[in-house]
Amino acid sequence: MALSFEQGPIRPPSEAASLLLRLTRNCPWNKCAFCKTFKKETFSRRSVEEIKKDIDTIAEMCHLLKKISHENGFGGLLNRQMLVLVYESGDFQLFHVASWLYNGGKTVFLQDANSLVMKTSDVVEILNYLKERLPSVERITTYARSSTLNRRSVEELTALGRAGLSRIHVGMESGSDQVLKFIEKGATAQQHIEAGKRVKESGISLSEYIILGLGGKRWAREHELETAKVLNAIAPDFIRLRSLTVGKETPLSQKVHNGEFEEETEEGVVRGERLLIEHLDGIQSNLISDHSMNLLEEVNGKLPEDKPAMMAVIDRFLALPEREKQNFSLGKRWGIYRVLDDMLDSSQHDRVAAAVDVLEKKGTLAETISFLKNQVV
Ligand code: SF4
Repeated sequence: MALSFEQGPIRPPSEAASLLLRLTRNCPWNKCAFCKTFKKETFSRRSVEEIKKDIDTIAEMCHLLKKISHENGFGGLLNRQMLVLVYESGDFQLFHVASWLYNGGKTVFLQDANSLVMKTSDVVEILNYLKERLPSVERITTYARSSTLNRRSVEELTALGRAGLSRIHVGMESGSDQVLKFIEKGATAQQHIEAGKRVKESGISLSEYIILGLGGKRWAREHELETAKVLNAIAPDFIRLRSLTVGKETPLSQKVHNGEFEEETEEGVVRGERLLIEHLDGIQSNLISDHSMNLLEEVNGKLPEDKPAMMAVIDRFLALPEREKQNFSLGKRWGIYRVLDDMLDSSQHDRVAAAVDVLEKKGTLAETISFLKNQVV
């Protein structure tokens, strides 16, 4: 029987090369109006023994891969040919471990949505065991909710850091109390600040996720201005931008349907992004747009020095004639463009322009752009 261990469904894009190790199942909160990831699932804890058994299985898989490599004349190395070989075997969990080793075997992401809900001493025990069994590991990261972090003392977080937890990813989403309440985040702006400061004080790297457009039309300015204030108070190591997508079957989609929430336009979201970045002040954070759901994925840089360059990308989009803005929005959502310069390819540009004409004649341009945007997960 093939070796296997338990894994959850998601990880941050920055953890694409990481080994995924499941500490708890699903989300203990599960109420955020925009989120559909665990909506049909129930939260449950895993025991330390179960998790250690999974770590043992992964260590066993590493040995097995070495053996296969020797048997196939690759000298125990995990090279490209080995990856192809394992992929073709159809054992996708073994392939996950092989890809991880191929990428250096250095990073691990602890799943699912809020691993630190486990007892701190249990997480410390798991981290120690993980490093003992898989000595190549150098970076271990996880998601955590602000409300959970606020129940952990700085000493506890420091102990987690000492045991090897290198980074915590927090879904702040907004710094506006109105928006946080409306989307049922289960945390206020002040609670986000306290949690963020605790993590910073512990020496663990902190990544805060912000959702552009989450204020909709109603709280547009407030969402961005209050979010900038909270980020300025925390000074996280990373600010990661996401854009709102309204997935079917989410509570937010119901609110849109009922008229309680009106989505911001593409241009409105970009104007909000500008306002947010403009008001980020006195912090040295890396701002990252590492998701294809963002219209302007090229807005990336280190604050404060790259702020003018990031604003310049946004201003370049905002200065486009209306027709060209529509062209970029449709082309980006359609997957034809990635960055603004992609519009300089005249054949692609004309192809998108023809589609814009057709959709506008039908009166479905905005609807189509919104539909394509909301397909991104
Ligand atoms: S805490 Fe995270 S995973 Fe849980 S419902 Fe909210 S966004 Fe979804």
